[in-house]
Amino acid sequence: MENRNSIDDILYWAKRAYGAKMVPGTSGNISVKCGNSIYLSASGVCLGDIRGIDLAEISSEGQVLNDVKPSSEKLMHLEIYKKRPDIEAIIHIHCPYVTSFAVCHKEINEPMLPEFIYNFGTIPSAKYALPSSKELADEIGKYFEEGHNAVLMQNHGLVAGAKTLKEVFYALESIQAYAKTYFAAKFLGEIKTLNNDEINKIKALKH
Ligand code: 13P
Ligand code: ZN
Repeated sequence: MENRNSIDDILYWAKRAYGAKMVPGTSGNISVKCGNSIYLSASGVCLGDIRGIDLAEISSEGQVLNDVKPSSEKLMHLEIYKKRPDIEAIIHIHCPYVTSFAVCHKEINEPMLPEFIYNFGTIPSAKYALPSSKELADEIGKYFEEGHNAVLMQNHGLVAGAKTLKEVFYALESIQAYAKTYFAAKFLGEIKTLNNDEINKIKALKH
């Protein structure tokens, strides 16, 4: 897979997201920025069955350039691209394990896995707003502007962005694995979190 985004990438990574149980039914959506256009999954499409004709082409101002009805979360995708010029690929998921955090209005921040502390630190929980609304887009946009690459959407799901869809997908897989580990560990016993000294040493590996 090349390190760039294309329509073929959307079809490929959408199916990977569906196969990984991140987007049950017709939930979730996916987009990439290609030059001056944004390609965004059509509203109501199952990402496991998506085809080339299920992609809306829109301008960065949100004008629809073909006759495909774009995802209802068009405003959220546009807002993230506006706030973060380094982001060129976005996937929004409804994975049950991850969405459990969103339903409980909890951040993902238990310091229990070095890989997660290194890559994400905290995944914040953005205030609930009506799906598809400008209010939701603005709420999520604020966190991306602060530098977060993944944000929980209260009572809804999670959205993540990166330079390429490949990077977004791998980040989502890590988040999903963290969420599953969290619930399995809770069932098994008490989670032993890493202490501040250990956390600081992990963060120092970045420098
Ligand atoms: P769309 O099919 O319109 O993208 O809606 C799915 C979704 O997850 C809305 O938040
Ligand atoms: Zn959604």
